[in-house]
Amino acid sequence: KLVSREFHAQDTVVPVGDVRIGNGSLVLIAGPCAVESEEQALTIARQVKRAGAHLFRGGAFKPRTSPYAFQGLGEKALKILDRVRQETGLPIVTEALDHTVYDLVEEVADVVQIGARNMQNFTLLRRAGQSSKPVLLKRGMAATLEEWLMAAEYILEGGNPHVILCERGIRTFTAHSRNTLDLSAVPVVRKESHLPILVDPSHACGRRDQVIPLSRAAVAVGANGLMVEVHHRPDEALSDGAQSLYPEQFQRLCEEIAPLAQLF
Ligand code: PEP
Ligand code: MN
Repeated sequence: KLVSREFHAQDTVVPVGDVRIGNGSLVLIAGPCAVESEEQALTIARQVKRAGAHLFRGGAFKPRTSPYAFQGLGEKALKILDRVRQETGLPIVTEALDHTVYDLVEEVADVVQIGARNMQNFTLLRRAGQSSKPVLLKRGMAATLEEWLMAAEYILEGGNPHVILCERGIRTFTAHSRNTLDLSAVPVVRKESHLPILVDPSHACGRRDQVIPLSRAAVAVGANGLMVEVHHRPDEALSDGAQSLYPEQFQRLCEEIAPLAQLF
């Protein structure tokens, strides 16, 4: 299989602008769950950049559980993300909700995200395989590692070698945490596959107070980077405010994680 170490012994390094994902350095992706306005996105982008983020995240098309919840600003958000990149120089990570919006999203995104709920959307995976942009493939909330790697296989088989895996927690019986961060997936994936793997502690736990401890653990277990939600006014966020770090917290996380990353 194309995803396996047997096929490709060396780590795949995914280039995103000047950033290299999977080369041994720790990559930090930060930003709000959703783009809510130009002012909101630019404010957060400037703050996370100053703190040390390498890429900016922000949803334009949001996969929401309820059809009544905020669905994202769509194309308007893509224009805002383009402006964020122009102004800050940060490469952009944003989600393509289905294959019909892929053209629009890949025009603006430096990395196209495929969300947990879409991990086995095979039409979307095939479309991602035809893209020249790297893909951040999140693990489905009930997906085995085998299923996750086979989803990545669709993208590689389609001709796109630049897949970044992202563990974001799986469904278990716990109530103290939105999902359960499966940290054991990290060393197993790194052993079995050459693809880089990030950890998203925000969607894994759903609670701000757990994000920093889980981030430390993710680095210790060998993740190639983190994707963290940050909002300057989380109480007013239109989605996932409860799990969003304040910019000051993100800055502290960056400061403490840099020396930690050197250890592993
Ligand atoms: C997200 O990162 O914005 C998101 C919706 O995450 P997930 O697909 O992991 O739920
Ligand atoms: Mn979110």
